[in-house]
Amino acid sequence: MIRDWLKAGVIEPGKGFAPTEEGTPQGGVISPLLMNIALHGLEEAAGVQHERSDSKRTKRGSPSLIRYADDMVALCHTRQEAEQVKARLATWLAPRGLSFNEEKTRVVHLDDGFDFLGFTIRRYHGKLITKPSKTAIKRVKRRVAAEFRALRGGNAATILVKITPITRGWASYYRGAAASRVFADLDRYLWQLTYKWACHSHPDKPKPWIINRYFGRYNKARNDRWVFGNRDSGAYLPKLAWTNIVRHQLVRGDASPDDPAQTDYWADRRRKRKPPLDLSTLNLLSRQKGRCPICGDLLLHADREPQSPGEWEQWHRTTRKAITRQHITAHRMDGTPDQTRLVHSHCQRRATDAKGTSTPVQLNRPRGLLEPCAATSGTHGS
Ligand SMILES: [Zn+2]
Repeated sequence: MIRDWLKAGVIEPGKGFAPTEEGTPQGGVISPLLMNIALHGLEEAAGVQHERSDSKRTKRGSPSLIRYADDMVALCHTRQEAEQVKARLATWLAPRGLSFNEEKTRVVHLDDGFDFLGFTIRRYHGKLITKPSKTAIKRVKRRVAAEFRALRGGNAATILVKITPITRGWASYYRGAAASRVFADLDRYLWQLTYKWACHSHPDKPKPWIINRYFGRYNKARNDRWVFGNRDSGAYLPKLAWTNIVRHQLVRGDASPDDPAQTDYWADRRRKRKPPLDLSTLNLLSRQKGRCPICGDLLLHADREPQSPGEWEQWHRTTRKAITRQHITAHRMDGTPDQTRLVHSHCQRRATDAKGTSTPVQLNRPRGLLEPCAATSGTHGS
């Protein structure tokens, strides 16, 4: 049955079955699962060998395969080996009703680089560099520009609700890449968009008035007066450049750049990576061991890290709604002064409802929660 569903499919290494740029297959929800089933055994077919001592490690000297859903890259040592792998895969795919899209299948030298899942991967002076791909940058720019156009006539609050998860999601996805310059470039772009939007909203006001109305040093931790924000609430649009770039090596230790397809490596990397939240939130999470003090459950469920800018966008949106800051104003018996803690929004609501209106708990706006900045401490909620 799976074979039939996939019959019309074309698989394009490095490009994808249904053209996917950032790992979100567009061919519907079922397609990645089907692909996983249909392509089970693909590695063996490509001639990938594993260490006998550790079946998850690719053997040195063996080609290695990275596949995300229907997108794949085979890393080989020579052009000849690459051609061989391709031929073996073609033979393996044929009886499954699949074939390479010759137009999009490329054998490239690592020094020339290639695009994969929205990244450009390239070896530069002997070092492997991953960056957001040009197409991915263009796409996010187009997306925010369109949002700003649609938000003409709206207010700053709506802008923040709409735009913040998009830019934060994008920054979260690419925070592991060498993206500082790209982030700074996008910040400039966003500044232009916010400024244009503001001028459009107040065509009769002088520029200093507009700047004073929408821009300011909203993030107290940053000496930046050009942050777009909402004067009434103090909420602001975090800059992508504030994102902590999580430097990581594509492969463990000094292993060759030819075998990044190590499952345990990725799992390990996931465990070590902190969620892209601001420092104070991470500290609170750490102090609370990642748990909500009201119900005892984990505050962030991240058994699996989001895998595309879109999934990150959703993650930020959900996190913002699900977690809130609870400021305990009543002094405790032991004299502990005011204390802030993180709780589930629904637990907070339940607690407030149970106690009626005379609650000692004061709901603080979950500001800051969405502010991405250098965060090196705190633990993940798992
Ligand atoms: Zn809770």
